[in-house]
Amino acid sequence: MEESQPTVSSVETVQGVESENVALRGRATQSSILFKNVNGQDFMSDAINAIDGNQDPDFVHGSCSHTNYQLNPWWRVDLLEPHKMYAISITNRIHVPERLKGAEILIGNSLTNYGNNNARCAYISGIGAGATQTFYCHGMVGRYVNVIIRGRQEWLTLCEVQVFAEPVDKVSTISSGWRHSQLGSSHVNGH
Ligand code: CA
Repeated sequence: MEESQPTVSSVETVQGVESENVALRGRATQSSILFKNVNGQDFMSDAINAIDGNQDPDFVHGSCSHTNYQLNPWWRVDLLEPHKMYAISITNRIHVPERLKGAEILIGNSLTNYGNNNARCAYISGIGAGATQTFYCHGMVGRYVNVIIRGRQEWLTLCEVQVFAEPVDKVSTISSGWRHSQLGSSHVNGH
């Protein structure tokens, strides 16, 4: 089988480890959908818009997720199997970026409380308008990545969530140091 040649935007070198944005293969959901069943516009707010490979931060372009105004709004991507997490990059909306302040990124394998009881990778003190910020998870393991705003009524909007990680079963079959030999290379091995 030929090696795949992913686009440049799907691969990033994080802390010396080259890894792929596996969120593109995931399945996303969220606590509610803004505009659900209103004039057929709910696609504008779908959870999947945060993993469509497009970091466009302008909501009206249709590439951002958006919940209703509610207590503890959350978004989740299911990576279908446990992954070792290196970094998660979140692209904020260009308008009303302050809404994302205080959000948490959670990693784990449990769906208890919709996955919102999983361990915390990062607390988001704030991301600039239309900006993308990267949070490092230092090898935390989980199948699910959640983003939640706890303790207040808010809208949760994510224009893109990139998850740089690799499946745990793949990691365990590769000798240590293998990934570091890939530094400077532009392709991902082993598919
Ligand atoms: Ca997007």
